[in-house]
Amino acid sequence: MNKPVVAIVGRPNVGKSTLFNRIVGSRISIVEDEPSITRDRIYADAEWLGRPFLMVDTGGIEFNEEVKMKEKMRYQAEIAIEEADVILFTVDIRDGLTNRDKEIAELLRKADKPVIIAANKAENIKEAKLAKYDFYELGFSEICLVSAQHGQGTGDLLDEVISHFSELETTDYDEDVIKFSVVGRPNVGKSSLVNQMLGEERVIVSDIAGTTRDAIDTPFRSADQEYVIIDTAGMRRKGKVDYGVEKFSVIRALRAVDRSDVALIVIDAQEGVTNQDKRIAGYAHEEGKAVVLVVNKWDLIEKDNQTMDRYIEEIRYQVKFLNYAPITFVSALTGQRVLRILDLVDYVVKENEKRVKRNMLNDVINEAVEIVQPPSNKQGKRMKIYSAKQVGIKPPSFVLFVNDPELLNFAYERYLKNQLRKAFGFEGTPIRIKVRRK
Ligand code: GDP
Ligand code: GDP
Repeated sequence: MNKPVVAIVGRPNVGKSTLFNRIVGSRISIVEDEPSITRDRIYADAEWLGRPFLMVDTGGIEFNEEVKMKEKMRYQAEIAIEEADVILFTVDIRDGLTNRDKEIAELLRKADKPVIIAANKAENIKEAKLAKYDFYELGFSEICLVSAQHGQGTGDLLDEVISHFSELETTDYDEDVIKFSVVGRPNVGKSSLVNQMLGEERVIVSDIAGTTRDAIDTPFRSADQEYVIIDTAGMRRKGKVDYGVEKFSVIRALRAVDRSDVALIVIDAQEGVTNQDKRIAGYAHEEGKAVVLVVNKWDLIEKDNQTMDRYIEEIRYQVKFLNYAPITFVSALTGQRVLRILDLVDYVVKENEKRVKRNMLNDVINEAVEIVQPPSNKQGKRMKIYSAKQVGIKPPSFVLFVNDPELLNFAYERYLKNQLRKAFGFEGTPIRIKVRRK
């Protein structure tokens, strides 16, 4: 299912990032070893009453330095209008209605998207109730009084937000269709890669029967396997507006990853891994997607027999948490190794869906425990692992039954994951370990 996107807009200092943090709360997960991704986070998964959605704070989107504040606000609103399903227009009830609020409202009114006003800093309810009426002038009927800082009203606000979700369209493909997205910053060669893949003779662009399919996706068949490239339109559409932004395409990329089984993260061989690449990779990792790192424009690199190894080392260093992802070096221009990408896609999908036998799993865990003892706490109480069980796929997920779940630490969890990978592969897919008291 498509995860709806909720974007926060508003002028500076009204409390956008406070509201963002309030809504996503502790759900901001920390990508292992990669605190830089989470520090200046502008998007995160959120959930209300069991409805998952993607929350975006447009106030955190970076622009080139020459972009002025007034333009920034306009761009942020435009991004929300284009990319979001529901817009949370945040205003400051204590400041009352300002000209900047009116300018933003004018842009938002033109959009055919639900807009909810979050009238923030409304701790003093009596005053706030009076002040609220000013904001009806903005032309939106849904106004919620909230205090992002203290939490009042955010539940009602989220009730309003999710009430708009049911009208959203979803696209579902057959289970056995492999869905993948091609993501990366503008100009890395995404469209060229897709064209190369589709241009190949053995690939047949097809209409997948029995599905309502989205015009932005490209289905095709190669050998006996059906594929869908998710959000090809997002690649074609580039160049329309130049915001001088790197992050502009991020929301769209995240959505595409969300709908995919596999994310092909395209990196420019000349530029290396960018922060944006890391963010998208971090999202794919957290969402349990299979990932392939595709280093494109390999034809432009002067090579000796160590170049590839040096590249691999550098990329591994840049995105440590993706140590499981295959890296391939291609050229969309010459076609070098482009075909092999589909083989890698097939491969990581299988790894992402892999189930291992329970007795083999327990053998591996027992052996791991024999080599390195599980951690203990300050009182000398040591973790005991009684047994293990695979409880899910996409990604492969395991439960360890233990004496005390609190005793598991990050280092030991990583050690166990590495042992599982040594034994079973799981190449290209994250894996998850949970502990339960037995
Ligand atoms: P942004 O620029 O719109 O992202 O605004 P911030 O979230 O950074 O908040 C701006 C200031 O308003 C900060 O000093 C916050 O502590 C404060 N603030 C945010 N929400 C509330 C609130 O609900 N009540 C009060 N009194 N202050 C708030
Ligand atoms: P997108 O914005 O990620 O879709 O990137 P494009 O596919 O539009 O490519 C951007 C530019 O890079 C174009 O001028 C392409 O011709 C060029 N390009 C793409 N792939 C390669 C490649 O493998 N090698 C070289 N030398 N140029 C490439």
